[in-house]
Amino acid sequence: MIDSTELETFHLPVSRIPKPESTGYINRHKNCYNENGIHQYDPVLFSNLKQSNFICDVCGHRYMRPSAWDYIDWMVDSGSFFEHEETKFIADKDILGFPGYIEKLKETRIKTGLLTAMITGDGTICGKKIVLCTTDFGFLGGSFCMSTGEKVWRAAQIAINKNVPMIIQACGGGARMHEGCSSMVSIPKALGLRL
Ligand SMILES: [Zn+2]
Repeated sequence: MIDSTELETFHLPVSRIPKPESTGYINRHKNCYNENGIHQYDPVLFSNLKQSNFICDVCGHRYMRPSAWDYIDWMVDSGSFFEHEETKFIADKDILGFPGYIEKLKETRIKTGLLTAMITGDGTICGKKIVLCTTDFGFLGGSFCMSTGEKVWRAAQIAINKNVPMIIQACGGGARMHEGCSSMVSIPKALGLRL
């Protein structure tokens, strides 16, 4: 757990959706080659790119990896998301003294605006109440760890108590190696199993 003063130093919505120039175009991504192997350099019309879900129509490259906040914006009614006070202050712990983990966490918190790879909260979709858990791949690959297990478990308790559906937007590169077996032990917790 961390206190609210420390949380406020970095806890801000971060978006990774590209922004168009005033012309309505954005630069084509690097290393775009067409089917004949010819390098493409021409700018891309943003409205077309948005319509194609940010996938390059020449080579299939995706222009961005959405942040947890981008998913929140897409999934719930505008302005309806409120992070759970019960999970907001749950922080990752360096229980193994893993080299460089503390520094990596500090750096990633600033980059993503998140305390952990997952954020949970209440929201509405078309006016219906839901509990939402979203993951940010930009936070150490969205890797599953102790804080994720704890947050999913607490969010599920909230959803049960309020009798509303829970939606999990999950993306991750596996269990977090910096926390060793503790990451794996948190999996049954997220599944609602008792050890
Ligand atoms: Zn391309």
